[in-house]
Parts: sequence; structure tokens; C-alpha cells
Amino acid sequence: MMRRYRYENKPLMKPVVALSGRSNVGKSSLLNSLLGTRAAAVSQSPGCTRAIWLYEPHDEGFLWADLPGYGYATVSQSQRHLWRRETLAFIRQVRPLVCVLIDSRLPPQELDKAWVQVLQAEGIPYILVANKVDKLNQSQRYHQQEVLSQAFDGAVWRIFVSARTQAGIPSLKAWIKNYFASQQEL
Ligand code: GDP
Repeated sequence: MMRRYRYENKPLMKPVVALSGRSNVGKSSLLNSLLGTRAAAVSQSPGCTRAIWLYEPHDEGFLWADLPGYGYATVSQSQRHLWRRETLAFIRQVRPLVCVLIDSRLPPQELDKAWVQVLQAEGIPYILVANKVDKLNQSQRYHQQEVLSQAFDGAVWRIFVSARTQAGIPSLKAWIKNYFASQQEL
């Protein structure tokens, strides 16, 4: 059982883990894998009003947030500003743990680095989730591990995953659960 609702700028009663990333990185696929339901995430097209959706599993002490993707080629300057304003307002009010999703095949991307800089400036912790690892062979994976850990050295954790094969997904879930569990002990 899971509740799904829009974020309405109101304080939330539970801690939040937010998924964010460039369009087409596999955010919807990953959210479906993590929540274990096909009905969870729907890909949102750049033209639509892109709400922040919250998912509340009945058996967890935290919420999942689906942040609108960034980096759509066709989006206007004003829509970019709106994205920035709304996302900033969200992270400032909610102070989530953010999963920054990237494509594990690519060199570090300027847009992702810029987003991470915003998170760091705001003091928001992030984990780096490098998706589509099924497309890498052993040596490419080793290379990318080096490159990405240097480029995203501020991450509290980094992991390769695949929404397609489910590689890394159980570890990612376990890490997030444990993160919130240990926060509650403080
Ligand atoms: P979103 O725009 O970030 O929500 O991305 P989607 O979940 O819609 O996925 C974008 C495309 O990437 C789709 O064609 C997916 O099938 C593909 N994709 C997503 N995750 C993976 C993955 O782990 N491996 C591979 N090979 N493709 C993936």
C-alpha cells in the first residue's frame, strides 16, 4: 500500500529522500524499482506543469519525492527558472536526502555538477546514484568509478545501479533505510 500526493509547500511529517536527475537518466524506472510498483512514476514531459510528487509507503518511516527532471533540450529559460525556484524552495523547506541520478556511461556533466553545487551550498546531503551500469564492461566501470568519485567527492555515498537488471537496487534501498534509522537514534 502506498499513498501518492503532490507536495503543497507544507511541512512534511516524515524525513524525505528525493530522486533527481537529468531527463532520460532513468528516474522513473528507478523509482518504480525502488518502490516495487509499476504504478509509481510516470515520465513527465517537459511542456507539462511538473509537480513534485511524494510517495508514502505504509511500512516506512520516510517519504520518497520525485523531483522534476532537468536538462530538457526544449525547455525555455523561464521554465528553467521556475524549476530552479521550486526545487530550491523544496530542498530548503524539506531538507531531504537527495539521490543525484546520473548516467554511469558519461563523463561528469556540467548540469549535474551545477546541481550538486547548489545542494552543497545549501548544506543538503546527497548520494550519487550512477544508473545504467548494465551498459558498462568491467574496465569501463573501473574507469568511471575513478572519474565519478573525483568529480562528485562531496557525496555521502556513491553506488552503481541498473534499473534494467536491478543491480545495486537492494543495496541502495538498504543504505537509505539505514540512513534514516541512524538519524532517528540521534
Ligand atoms: P526519466 O526520464 O529519467 O524518468 O527516465 P526513464 O525511466 O523514462 O528512462 C529513460 C530511458 O532509459 C528508457 O528508455 C529506459 O528504458 C532507459 N533506462 C532506464 N534505466 C535503465 C538502465 O538501468 N539501463 C538501461 N540500459 N536503460 C535504462
